[in-house]
Amino acid sequence: MRTKLKSLLLPVIAFGMFSWSNAAEFPLAVKGKSNSLIHFDANANRPEIRAAVELQSYLRKITGAGDIQRVTNPTVFFRMKKDNADCTEILLATLENGNTLVPRDVYSKLEKASGNDAFYIKTDPVEKRILIIGKKPIGVLYGTYTFLEKYLGVRWFHPGPDGEYIPKNPNLKTGDIDDFQQPDIPVRTISCWEMSVKPWKLDDVRIWMARNKVQYSVNMTPNPQESLLDFYAWGNKPLSGGGGHMTFENAVPKYLFKDHPEYFPLVDGKRVCEDRSQRCLANPEVRKLLLDYALKVLPYTPEYMVSFNDSTYRRGAWCQCPECIKMGTYDGKFQISNLAHRFTSEIANEILKARPEAHISVEIYSEFRDLPTDPSIHYDKRVLGRYCPHQRCYVHHFDDPKCDYNAKLYKLFLDWKKICPKMELFDFYAYSNSPYSPMEYTLAHDLKLYKKHNLDQWFDDCTNHELPILSSNWPFYYVASKMAWDTSLDADKLLDEAYGIYYGAAAEPMKKYQAYRRELWESAPGHALYGGPKRMAYCLTVPGAEKRLKDFLDEADKLAANDPVLKRRIAAERGRLETFWVKEAQELKKVMAGQNNIPAQETGGKIVIDGKLDEEDWRKAELITGFLTSSENNKPGTPVEETRAKILYDKDNWYIGIEAMTEHAWAPVKTQVKKHDGSVWTDDCIEVFIVPPDGSADYYQWVVNSAGVFYDAKARSPEFESGAEVKTTVLKDRYVIEMRIPVSSMNLKLENGQEWRIHLSRTCQNLQPPKSVEESSLDGISNPNPALFRRAIIGKNIMRNGNFSEIVENKNLKARFPNRWGGTKVTLIEGEHNRNQVEIQSGGYLASYVGVPPSASPLLFSGTVTASGNGTLNIWLDSYARPPGDTRPAKNEIKRRIDPIKLTQEMVTYPFRFKLKPYEDGSLFFQVVDGTARVSGVGVVVEAEK
Ligand SMILES: [Zn+2]
Ligand SMILES: [Zn+2]
Repeated sequence: MRTKLKSLLLPVIAFGMFSWSNAAEFPLAVKGKSNSLIHFDANANRPEIRAAVELQSYLRKITGAGDIQRVTNPTVFFRMKKDNADCTEILLATLENGNTLVPRDVYSKLEKASGNDAFYIKTDPVEKRILIIGKKPIGVLYGTYTFLEKYLGVRWFHPGPDGEYIPKNPNLKTGDIDDFQQPDIPVRTISCWEMSVKPWKLDDVRIWMARNKVQYSVNMTPNPQESLLDFYAWGNKPLSGGGGHMTFENAVPKYLFKDHPEYFPLVDGKRVCEDRSQRCLANPEVRKLLLDYALKVLPYTPEYMVSFNDSTYRRGAWCQCPECIKMGTYDGKFQISNLAHRFTSEIANEILKARPEAHISVEIYSEFRDLPTDPSIHYDKRVLGRYCPHQRCYVHHFDDPKCDYNAKLYKLFLDWKKICPKMELFDFYAYSNSPYSPMEYTLAHDLKLYKKHNLDQWFDDCTNHELPILSSNWPFYYVASKMAWDTSLDADKLLDEAYGIYYGAAAEPMKKYQAYRRELWESAPGHALYGGPKRMAYCLTVPGAEKRLKDFLDEADKLAANDPVLKRRIAAERGRLETFWVKEAQELKKVMAGQNNIPAQETGGKIVIDGKLDEEDWRKAELITGFLTSSENNKPGTPVEETRAKILYDKDNWYIGIEAMTEHAWAPVKTQVKKHDGSVWTDDCIEVFIVPPDGSADYYQWVVNSAGVFYDAKARSPEFESGAEVKTTVLKDRYVIEMRIPVSSMNLKLENGQEWRIHLSRTCQNLQPPKSVEESSLDGISNPNPALFRRAIIGKNIMRNGNFSEIVENKNLKARFPNRWGGTKVTLIEGEHNRNQVEIQSGGYLASYVGVPPSASPLLFSGTVTASGNGTLNIWLDSYARPPGDTRPAKNEIKRRIDPIKLTQEMVTYPFRFKLKPYEDGSLFFQVVDGTARVSGVGVVVEAEK
């Protein structure tokens, strides 16, 4: 037996001697027979044992050598057990168990590594040995997987057998390896559970995570059938005490309310204990209970999270006692962040005093995500702040200044970093309503950014069980796992390699397919955020896109020939395309086609905001109808309570008039919120969304209750103050809202021809139980999706019945047709809720006399037509000028036309403009050549030429 001393020195010298040589080889199998032996310590931990088992199994699968063995020995004997001098020994050990065998340079590098995940893979040509040394047992496991992946070519693209790639090589060998690795992002977690990983099995998902060096979060139920030790064997994130939103439920449980109401929040003068109530944070007993609980739990769990109840926007969740108010007040102003973070920062300090090694984390979440205004509040550098950017957008980079959502949340993150140096980013990709969407390119950029900011943890909450996000977005999670470990990697190269291997013979069309899918996603309009619109629905509204994608799949299918795995992989892509893109695009096209305009009218006189819609202008204004129940999954239906709206404007203001009928009310109208910018949406309320024509915001939003209390926001940010004036009246059968919104708050003036978008929705809280709540909105659009909002064109629309809602029996056509309209080869298509269209066949036309008001000066005639179809749309005005005294009959003398328009499958609003002579008037024509068109509306505005 060699001495310990030699074993330490020899490899070091050997490496020095052999470093000039480029020919060291380590055969692992020869002609399908074993030429390797896996050694691991007899006292190995679970992850080390798992590493040995996995290594053996994969070596056998790659080489076909069923005789590759693994043996355990006490560490000191590691080096004696080789029957064959040429056999390559693979030695798996931790720094602790292998300390006598590990070369000094390896040892010192690992010793200095900060996290437990670090490992060193190093070959020793003298001893014919491959060392896989982990700083801790989990490092051995990660080092082993990295060895299999990086040096032997195994890949785990996604969970389950179809996600795995194992190259075959009976003469497997490696060259020299000298590879120290530690993660760029120290903790990398994807949180999921059995329902959110369908169609895969949770166990397969957790194994996949371990193989890709990502941690499964134990906060989500471990499988009860398996021991906790087995669970750790796969390298899961250690159990964390406290739990999401459960800290106070555990430490100051509800049953204490009976004897100690003072532990619970004071709301409107009464101590209450309700679902999601917080606790009285100023009460010293509450503080003591929490501290005791944390110290009791900590011996069993290395981590402890102090987590408030999930009371998001719930009124009265936080204590209003004078001491709590005082705790949350700085510079005369109360703020929940001051209260919450003063409490958690102080508790964290107390826990750390008793247990300096404890990992404490706190949440920076919803109502207490704002930066505390009190500058004295800050966290110890050992405390992890879990920053939750709900409403961040996953289309745009986190640091993209052009994305309203991200610009704000990124700045907030940087501000937090100053008072809480150790941070986690808690992402919500899976909740952004974006299945089958290539968001990996956003994450790839952001992971580099996170690294730049020394982010301590990256967490993705993939617990959404409504959509199969993990499976449909598998390239995202693959890139996430690789790049969270090594942020210097290139997402394009990673995926190019992945698609090349994964699709094999069909790789070429599949790479084109994925590239085109990315192009469509990236050019779709809008953002992707928590609970946001289904942005991917726009991808296939691009003409020809669906066919092109399906052609790629067909070609891939052909190339896959009879390979059943490839066939399944391609079929899975096809299924996702159908479910998430084709079906959603069809729904969207239907909604877009049915879109009506908002009949906004200019005021003649002054509007007094008094909660009464009694001015002449209000009476004459056209009623806006089309409120539908807006359930995301069910078909839109007629709401129980009717809502009537009218919209007026002058050059400085929008005026919104609402009559919210309460004829079916079961209880009084709910009106509890009294504070401006409070959570008005928990009351009976009306929401107004306005999209400005300059695109300066996705939308502005007002939520108004029947007492006239309102919340206003720009791009969901309530710091925006609109200066709106709101008055309401509550009558027996309705409540009335009258509001004036100055557009100066959006830095705009209302001008002719501008296209704004407006949306209205309503929440009823007081219907007959059990279904006491009803949401309704214009056209049943429940997600505030700006692209679906109705258009409001500024200017007096002189086109009468331009939306075809008024139908008469047309004698020439011998059919029902829109009043004042005629044509040839035209058919009326009647839609629900007066949303009618006219179909024009090839060579046919649709026409109407306009009736331009007589004007002594030239006019600018601007119009829009909303149409879809194929072929070419020609638009012209056949006109004549008849100044006073000219009594010649009307006759089409002038023909003004615009450039032909190429129609698309998508409903598009096309503008057209003509300059008119004094007293010119005539008829508008829409003609279709080489195709068929559907027209859903025409609007015309005239103004004096400037
Ligand atoms: Zn209190
Ligand atoms: Zn965005």
